[in-house]
Amino acid sequence: MAGVSTAAPPRRLLLGPGPSNVHPRVRRALAQPMLGHLDPVFLSVLDGVQAGLRRLFGTQNRMTLPLSGTGSAGMEACLVNLLEPGDPVVIGVAGVFGERMCEVARRAGARLTRVDAEPGTILEGDAMAEAIACTRPRLVAFVHAETSTGVAQPVEAIARAARDAGALVVLDCVTSLGGLAVELDAWGIDAAYSATQKCLSCPPGLSPASFSEAAVARVRARRVPVQSWYLDIHLLGGYFGSERVYHHTAPISMILGLAEALAMIEEEGMQARIERHHGAGEALVEGLHGLGFRPLVEARHRLPMLTSLRVPARFAPGEEAGLRRRLLDRYGIEVGGGLGRLAGQIWRIGLMGENARLTSVESLLSALRRELA
Ligand SMILES: *Cc1c(COP(=O)(O)O)cnc(C)c1O
Repeated sequence: MAGVSTAAPPRRLLLGPGPSNVHPRVRRALAQPMLGHLDPVFLSVLDGVQAGLRRLFGTQNRMTLPLSGTGSAGMEACLVNLLEPGDPVVIGVAGVFGERMCEVARRAGARLTRVDAEPGTILEGDAMAEAIACTRPRLVAFVHAETSTGVAQPVEAIARAARDAGALVVLDCVTSLGGLAVELDAWGIDAAYSATQKCLSCPPGLSPASFSEAAVARVRARRVPVQSWYLDIHLLGGYFGSERVYHHTAPISMILGLAEALAMIEEEGMQARIERHHGAGEALVEGLHGLGFRPLVEARHRLPMLTSLRVPARFAPGEEAGLRRRLLDRYGIEVGGGLGRLAGQIWRIGLMGENARLTSVESLLSALRRELA
């Protein structure tokens, strides 16, 4: 094969919106010899992964599993299982990922009411509550950590309004899980999904997800079958529940990698990990302030693991893309640009999982200082 050898890809410091760098312990787990998907040794690893995900999600939900697929597969699984054609749904849109939820719900034939937030701000609880009161939805969905803008969405008031109206609640935890507190049971969330390549610091490929008893009952009571055979949680329950019968072949290596990543999170302790993300995020904002980058999001709604910063006004159009490219080529550092409406206007810098350290901040700052000198 022409080009870069798979035996020696370049070393990168991945400070974009994901994937993040993978610890050598996880890489070793990924490289272990293959096991069968019904091998009792593998199944005990899977038991441990499911128990670890329950702790991380703050839930007792039996139906907690590593879905095969990336974060978007988790999004799709939650929405296509819990929505039937014609169902009213309220979706909060504070960026690209809320937008994506709307598209998935629309394709599932739901009757969509969307509540929009200005880019860089939270969804207002009152606006969500009003939409819920007006449309009596069967489902309410929104994003906890909006990676396209760097906003941390307060969850509890919206979840309460939804539950008071009898709706199930879906929460996107793709970027929050493993870096911020996630408490599905305390918050009253019925279905949530994440992805392995953000604050869990595994490669992309699995979507940790969890469904409450009420969510599972909703799927059981459907009038029409779930449109996706692959993501039907009733069918997935055959393998990821107590029976352990074949549905599809589990991604063995990825699950071994996730098991190691979860073990590392437990060794560190979730509270320490949250504080580590917080400290790194603050240091980043402070360091980049000196170089003329100003945060898009006000301090109290800022995500620690994904900081969006306005590109300095003195940059010519297109200059920011060239600078990001030089960071990659000369220093091996990847940072993200703006998505959607914010393309060309902001940078998105991730300090996720393994990368949420002052050393990552220092590496980026010293490279930027040299380039901007
Ligand atoms: C990354 C991301 C997704 C999509 O995950 P993929 O793994 O890219 O499919 C969904 N929601 C949020 C908030 C994300 O950051």
